[in-house]
Amino acid sequence: MTRGEHGISREDISANALKVMYRLNGAGFESYLVGGCVRDILMGYEPKDFDVVTNATPEQIKGLFRNCRLIGRRFRLAHIVFGREIIEVATFRGHHQETDESETVPKNKATGSQDAQGQLVRDNVFGSIEEDAERRDFTFNAMYYSVADFTVKDFANGLAAIEKREVALMGDPETRYREDPVRMLRAVRFAVKLSMRIETSTAVPIKSLASLLQNIPPARLFEETLKLFLSGKGEETFLMMREYDLIDQLFPQLAPFLKDENSKEMQFVRHVLANTDERINNEQRVTPAFLYAALLWYPVEEQSQRLQLESGLNAHDAFNIASSEVIAKQTQRIMIPKRFSTVMRDIWILQQRLPKRFGRRAFQLLTHPKFRAGYDFLLARGQTEGGDLLELAQWWTHFQHAESGKQKGMLNALKRADSAGKGAPRKRKRRPVKRDSDA
Ligand code: ATP
Ligand code: MG
Repeated sequence: MTRGEHGISREDISANALKVMYRLNGAGFESYLVGGCVRDILMGYEPKDFDVVTNATPEQIKGLFRNCRLIGRRFRLAHIVFGREIIEVATFRGHHQETDESETVPKNKATGSQDAQGQLVRDNVFGSIEEDAERRDFTFNAMYYSVADFTVKDFANGLAAIEKREVALMGDPETRYREDPVRMLRAVRFAVKLSMRIETSTAVPIKSLASLLQNIPPARLFEETLKLFLSGKGEETFLMMREYDLIDQLFPQLAPFLKDENSKEMQFVRHVLANTDERINNEQRVTPAFLYAALLWYPVEEQSQRLQLESGLNAHDAFNIASSEVIAKQTQRIMIPKRFSTVMRDIWILQQRLPKRFGRRAFQLLTHPKFRAGYDFLLARGQTEGGDLLELAQWWTHFQHAESGKQKGMLNALKRADSAGKGAPRKRKRRPVKRDSDA
């Protein structure tokens, strides 16, 4: 495609990316923008970042830029650093038996550090632009834009896919998924992000191959799930992942609760994801900890009940053990960094503590560093479950914003209500049905 045939102008491109390409071209190398940025510009979106590919080797790239860092052990990439913007520059990649970022194959000792050299050499196979294109995933991700002649090289009919609004893998979908199962997650991610459908032959193998995600290192899946859920379209992404049985793979403990799409568990997860989307789209902060706490909340509750019944543990101990067990099991699939799992636990523990408001407790809770997250979580539960839980959340809504005189009043009222109820069974959610005794 020539300049007149595509809509890309230099104004769409980061000045730093242009600088990098001009310098490479000036030194006699080829250079192109590739992947998501070309696709996004052609679709009228603003690219997240700009990736450059070239026939210069990493060392040659480094020789051209003072602000260059070489990264990656298995496949070396250059990062050209401009303050907060980093332009990633990769050398065209060629073919070799193994796939891609192929972290698919867990490194065992034999191929680990000692053989890393061999691995590295084998992985650092440089290739032609055609080979580089073939290794990419979806047809719309294999378009290359050159500032030397302002053309777009469209190796796999990516533009046609954009026009048809289809997410289509290049090559044989089953083979491509086997090479790198994360492509299944990427298919869903792009379908939602770009408002496209997944082309039939690309969609069909997903359900039967979904279990291959078990071979992906948990750290990589953590990164991928963040992209999936913190995209601003997390709820939609979640629903599509569920359709393709991908939630079962990533969150096996949650999956049984989602069989019925009207279950309270399903409603809760959707509610939290929808809130997260809203926050992201309003440029408010979100933490993965809150999301993970929500995705695993019902598994923790259930496990805690089970432990109380089966082992006779008290509620407090059962809850703590259940929290640890659920996190441990989850991290076999998706690594959750400590800094997040600690906050998840705080949020969960606050769910146990927020109902207990007597004496100084209510005031102490307000000063808890994670009070806000714990309260937001309680509110989300209240909004999905209603009843006492919603009342409790609303109590906290008022309490935290009330003046101190009013706060004391609220606590006294609580005390009175409690002593009035002493001896009687604890207040339960009022049933809508009238029983004889109510008459
Ligand atoms: P986003 O806008 O979400 O960043 P992107 O297309 O840029 O989308 P990246 O994950 O940044 O996605 O990857 C950049 C490019 O690298 C892709 O466009 C694709 O060409 C290639 N790529 C990334 N991951 C894979 C993969 N698993 N298999 C094959 N090619 C991939
Ligand atoms: Mg990208």
